[in-house]
Amino acid sequence: MTVPPAGYRCPACGDWSPATAPWRPFCSERCKLIDLGHWLAGRYKVPVREDDAEDVPAPRTDDDDDAR
Ligand SMILES: [Zn+2]
Repeated sequence: MTVPPAGYRCPACGDWSPATAPWRPFCSERCKLIDLGHWLAGRYKVPVREDDAEDVPAPRTDDDDDAR
C-alpha cells in the first residue's frame, strides 16, 4: 500500500488532498461541482430505457435433477 493514510486523491482533478479537506472526496468545492456537473450531464444524456431486461434474472438450468 503506497497510499498515504492522511490524504486522498481528488476524483475530479487527481490531486492529492489532505484527509481534513471539507470537500471530500474532492480537493475543493470547484472540483466537487465539476464532478457533479459531469455526473448530471451524463445522467441526463442517457436515454430512458424502456426495457427492464437488466432486472430480469438469467434463466437457470436445473440439470442437476437429471444428473442425479
Ligand atoms: Zn480536485
